Amino acid sequence: MASAARLVSRLALVTGGGSGIGRAVCQRFACEGASVVVADISEESANETLGSLPNDHRGQDHMAAVVDVSSKESVKKLLTSVQTCYFQPPSVCVNAAGITQDDFLLNMEEEDFDRVVQINLKGSFLLTQAVAQALVACGAPKGSIITVGSIVGKVGNIGQANYAASKAGVEGLTKTAAKELSRFGIRCNCVLPGFISTPMTEKVPDKVINKMMSLVPLGRMGQPAEVADVCAFLASDESRYITGESIQVTGGLFMG
Ligand code: NAD
Repeated sequence: MASAARLVSRLALVTGGGSGIGRAVCQRFACEGASVVVADISEESANETLGSLPNDHRGQDHMAAVVDVSSKESVKKLLTSVQTCYFQPPSVCVNAAGITQDDFLLNMEEEDFDRVVQINLKGSFLLTQAVAQALVACGAPKGSIITVGSIVGKVGNIGQANYAASKAGVEGLTKTAAKELSRFGIRCNCVLPGFISTPMTEKVPDKVINKMMSLVPLGRMGQPAEVADVCAFLASDESRYITGESIQVTGGLFMG
């Protein structure tokens, strides 16, 4: 349901763009006029998203790219190829790449803790740093960096010590980045989804989903497009006085 064209002539880089929330963000941004770089560790999924993007605005030019956000080398390569292609860095970046590796704290393997933190938290750091460095270096007048956290980072969740820690971490990262980068015109914000229907939540047992739904005032899971709507707002000038903020998209699951 995109009717606005708030992102015309903006270049947007979306990690995790091959699936779920990241894919919906790519589609929404493209509808609003942005050129979109769909970045994902899965080339096939990134290309699938690319194939679904509308091209209705003048000068729009999308591309798919492979990246492992947990690797500094890979992130550096991505930024170089984007700048080679478009002769500018992305002025909008959405960190949506993320994974879960759930287990109870008493059983959790060290590697599962490390992997989740490396992708969800370190990956967001690497992208935020690389995009901000590129924007500052070319003297871009403004930028908007959006990181997909989770409500679980605020309140914890059984079986997700690694995931909750990584998502609490991205809020601290974002607030600090917002303070340091505002003088360069770069805003940094988080969206905190609750339970959204994507391949990630398909893994959650029905029993758990049903229990969570009984706690959601709006009485249903969210759709990826509903998170993308908030990302589009944060990417656009309509949110120009908002930075260092976290916006919950949870159907009212946790208030206060
Ligand atoms: P998803 O599994 O559908 O999509 C995640 C995407 O990230 C996939 O395309 C995957 O290939 C990509 N990815 C994984 N590791 C990567 C890496 N190292 N480098 C680059 N890309 C990588 O999941 P989703 O539900 O769309 O999740 C998107 C984001 O939203 C994640 O950060 C997730 O933690 C967050 N989130 C989701 C929910 C939910 O209910 N679905 C709730 C809160 C937060």
